[in-house]
Amino acid sequence: MDFIPAKTILQKSAHGDRWFGIDYNMNLYKGCPHGCIYCDSRSDCYRVENFDTVRAKANGIAILDRELQAKKKKGVIGIGAMSDTYNPFEKQYEITRKALTLVQKYGFGVSIETKSDLIVRDTDIFTKINAGVILKFTVTTAEDELSKIIEPHVCESSARFRAMKILSEAGLFTGTLLSPVIPFITDTEDNIREIIRLSYKSGAKFVWSMGGVTLRENQRTYFYDKLDRHFKGLREQYEKTFGNQYVCNSLNRNVTQVFKEECQKYGLLYKMPDIIRAYKKSGTGFEQLNLWI
Ligand code: SF4
Repeated sequence: MDFIPAKTILQKSAHGDRWFGIDYNMNLYKGCPHGCIYCDSRSDCYRVENFDTVRAKANGIAILDRELQAKKKKGVIGIGAMSDTYNPFEKQYEITRKALTLVQKYGFGVSIETKSDLIVRDTDIFTKINAGVILKFTVTTAEDELSKIIEPHVCESSARFRAMKILSEAGLFTGTLLSPVIPFITDTEDNIREIIRLSYKSGAKFVWSMGGVTLRENQRTYFYDKLDRHFKGLREQYEKTFGNQYVCNSLNRNVTQVFKEECQKYGLLYKMPDIIRAYKKSGTGFEQLNLWI
């Protein structure tokens, strides 16, 4: 893995109320090797060259140490927005693990989204973070065979649910990002029902869904190439249905209703303010977190 120069690690977030109550963003790596066919982060506008090649920020941990020490306002740090921080190199380099140790040391909280079961390795640190922990697994399909096609270089959906169960049983606040819902591929009522059921069985406290696939320069080409390879005829259907639209939502209108009904059935939170309130309430100390759960 290559290392690239970095000046800063932490960035202030202006959208915390819309995204899990985070106050800061942090990307320890650049690029992501998981190969999800729908990944918005490979769009041209983000200017990440060679997106599939992971690079780590040189001296990232030293920079983060300095930045956390200097911050007057504590808060929750979001990890995983532009790159899954649990990539295969993390196993060896433990950059995320070292960063989490600093997050705990300086009294910050953490919000992580991942598709990798490597996250389980850091359970011991998560349980020591007192200022709020929310751990999200992105799951787009309940079928492992399909997940191997649309998210080819990361563990399959069932492994993510197993990891979620381990973290939940350790008393941590976990849930599912059911996003994106991919038109004509994963937007069936059965798929939505099954993901929500498996989330519940795995100890999830919430399921959050954000809608359809986003397509713009570079990402659209990548997505269509994958459709041509794995889903014959679907590119033409997308072109006909969505043209050059950026957001491509499911045409199946039942999906939203099914999503809400199933979350309610299992007592899972699905509205952003409720999710934020619940995990922040649970994050005032690990003992209290256990009591609340
Ligand atoms: S894990 Fe996230 S950042 Fe990585 S390829 Fe998939 S969608 Fe993109």
